[in-house]
Amino acid sequence: MKIIDIITAEKPSLSFEVFPPKTSDSFDSIKKATEEIASLTPSYMSVTYGAGGGTSQHTVSIAENLQKNFSVPALAHLSCVSSTKDQISKQLDLLRSKGIDNILALRGDIPEGMSRDHLDYHYASELTEEIRQYGGFCIGGACYPESHPESPSSFQDIKYLKAKVEAGAEFLVTQMFFDNDVLYNFMYRIREAGIHVPVVAGIMPVVNPKSIKRICAMSGSALPQRFCRIVDKYGDNPKAMKQAGIAYATEQIIDLYANGINAVHIYSMNRPDVAAAIQSNISEIIK
Ligand code: FAD
Repeated sequence: MKIIDIITAEKPSLSFEVFPPKTSDSFDSIKKATEEIASLTPSYMSVTYGAGGGTSQHTVSIAENLQKNFSVPALAHLSCVSSTKDQISKQLDLLRSKGIDNILALRGDIPEGMSRDHLDYHYASELTEEIRQYGGFCIGGACYPESHPESPSSFQDIKYLKAKVEAGAEFLVTQMFFDNDVLYNFMYRIREAGIHVPVVAGIMPVVNPKSIKRICAMSGSALPQRFCRIVDKYGDNPKAMKQAGIAYATEQIIDLYANGINAVHIYSMNRPDVAAAIQSNISEIIK
């Protein structure tokens, strides 16, 4: 099933992102976590892609398992900056052969010290165009309500986002954000710029405060005062932090649905307990 049909339906969608194992040793435990999340029967699940291709097989096998054995539509991430055209072509063949219909087309982060001179791909729009030409896939792209960290201005970032949509991205998934007004402002600016594809809001329930400052520094997401107070107060108490982090995310999600953002994607960090708690908190809202 194509993601575009799920997120444009009248019913609000709730989906989860999972990540594949970095080594084969942890494959079974991560597969189990993704299966527990799939048992919640979300609208769809996305599976991230490790840059460089080392875990690319795992992305496909986890995605295939979710579709085949749990009937959960899968969105396979695919990043291009560390790949050759030949590797991407083989990955597309593999996804096609496994019945994966949906791809989130990404550039990926450029590894430190890597020369950009001889890359086959420089931007996600080039990959998007290539997948479109391959045919048959529903293609999504990433977007950044607070601008991509490398971008000199939000104006430039939106200009290139438009090019990515024109290259074939049928929907966009946002980077995490902790203040919904940031997203509403972004929606206004992209619509003004002529980008009219559906936008899926990416929400990260923060249950482990240790990693959040690092993640935000990398992603460019700002932490509002209200949120920092919660982390300051409960950050050293894991059970309280989990409860507060889930409550904060739940409040964000309800506000998003109430304001017409009909598709929400949870960065689950492979935590079935967190995914289940969020889903249960909004069970009547997404019915
Ligand atoms: P692009 O759309 O190419 O944008 C990257 C930068 O280049 C931006 O600053 C943009 O403004 C600029 N730009 C674009 N086109 C041009 C142009 N023609 N000329 C000049 N500048 C241009 N990474 C992974 O490795 N694996 C994953 O599974 C993964 N999943 C993600 C899921 C989501 C929802 C998000 C938001 C990010 C994800 N990432 C993932 C991270 C992503 O790969 C990085 O943020 C990366 O730095 C940018 O990827 P992109 O696809 O947004 O790039």
